[in-house]
Amino acid sequence: MTTSSPLRSLPSVDRLLQEEQVQALLRAYPRALVTEAARHVLAQARAALLNGGQGHTAPAALAPLVETHLAATLRPPLRPVINATGVVIHTNLGRAPLSRAALQAMAEVALGYSNLEYDLEAGERGSRHEHAAAILRRVSGAEAALVVNNNASAVLLALQALAAGREVVISRGQLVEIGGGFRIPDVLRQSGARLVEVGTTNRTYAADYERAITSETALLLRVHSSNFRVIGFVHQPTLQELVEVGRRHNLPVLDDLGSGSLLDTARYGLAHEPMVQESVAAGTALVSFSGDKLLGGPQAGLLVGRADLIGQLKRHPLTRALRPDKLTLAALVATLGHYLREEAEREIPVWRMLAQTPAQIGRRARRLGAALPAELVEWRVVDGQSAIGGGSLPGETLPTRLLALTPNCGIQTLAQRLRHATPPVVARIEHDRLVLDLRTVQPEEDRSLANCLVRAAEAGSD
Ligand SMILES: *Cc1c(COP(=O)(O)O)cnc(C)c1O
Repeated sequence: MTTSSPLRSLPSVDRLLQEEQVQALLRAYPRALVTEAARHVLAQARAALLNGGQGHTAPAALAPLVETHLAATLRPPLRPVINATGVVIHTNLGRAPLSRAALQAMAEVALGYSNLEYDLEAGERGSRHEHAAAILRRVSGAEAALVVNNNASAVLLALQALAAGREVVISRGQLVEIGGGFRIPDVLRQSGARLVEVGTTNRTYAADYERAITSETALLLRVHSSNFRVIGFVHQPTLQELVEVGRRHNLPVLDDLGSGSLLDTARYGLAHEPMVQESVAAGTALVSFSGDKLLGGPQAGLLVGRADLIGQLKRHPLTRALRPDKLTLAALVATLGHYLREEAEREIPVWRMLAQTPAQIGRRARRLGAALPAELVEWRVVDGQSAIGGGSLPGETLPTRLLALTPNCGIQTLAQRLRHATPPVVARIEHDRLVLDLRTVQPEEDRSLANCLVRAAEAGSD
């Protein structure tokens, strides 16, 4: 039996718990957690030995592994990450970072009680839907507004409340998949509405909608093709034309803007992302958009439009299931306040990032490069492009300056070490270099990013 002797050299759980380092853990954490970590470490060591590998067997060598495993167990799975990808609205990285004021508003409401559903004036029950409605009316120009959990649920609610059992007319070119399995035809089916496709993949005219309208038609739906672009021989009716068709037949138009924007993205050298105010001004009955895309706030679905329709949505039972949390409402109202005070570009991180110039980003990139150990990583600052992401402005990019790294340890190794750093750093690999775009790194994160980079470059180099 060749394996029995090294296995026998492993300590028992009790013996491992006697180690001073483990004793210290026992004084700080529940016994069950520490014991479980010790068992895990011993099981791993046993498996390594059985596989013919070399494992630690001395209790003093195993004790630090117990501490590491315990720390991993206790670490929150959802953690802050430094986004060095340059993708401003990165759905996988949590979309829009919040403003200081939004964070403050959430903290104030979270730490105690609030008037979430209490009318302080009347001293009786109030509605949570009132808090964001007034400011949403102001910034959008609409008559009424409603906030739900996210834009996917806003679209589902509107279709179910206004069109269940009836027909919804939509252009073939707009039967899109947003991502994460959100497909417009599926949402329509889920809502109980019947889909009536008109036009072709590339060309749809107002007359196509007109011809499809029957006594069964409940509404006309327009969906912004937010994550792709069709070029060439293409045509879609303008919103005005669609509203005109709707008016002739007394049918509301629902405009799913996806991101939507309250500021003109063309001011930043980007294409013009459809604006919420424009859609309202065109006479759209209902406009839906996300809270955490270009709005720069918390996850939410925002519906603005005609008061009678918003009233109908509010009374629908599904609204109860989709209602926003008080933290969301607090952050959303604070975010909208930045637009009202015309300070969005200064206060909302998403707009601050979009407004950064390549020169500003390049200066920070050079400072970061200069902090790196030159013998371990070669760096240059080069031209590149930042993407907007998050289902807005497909294919649109902003010129940026990238910190491009060629580390001795190899780019894959460095990228992996950065993902395991505290905080984790997510970067991009481009042309055989690891590139960091500081557009999406907030300046107050620069120091922490520098520390992570230096440690990652130095790891295993002594
Ligand atoms: C992003 C998007 C949605 C979904 O919005 P969420 O807030 O992510 O639920 C719906 N429609 C369009 C056009 C979108 O771009």
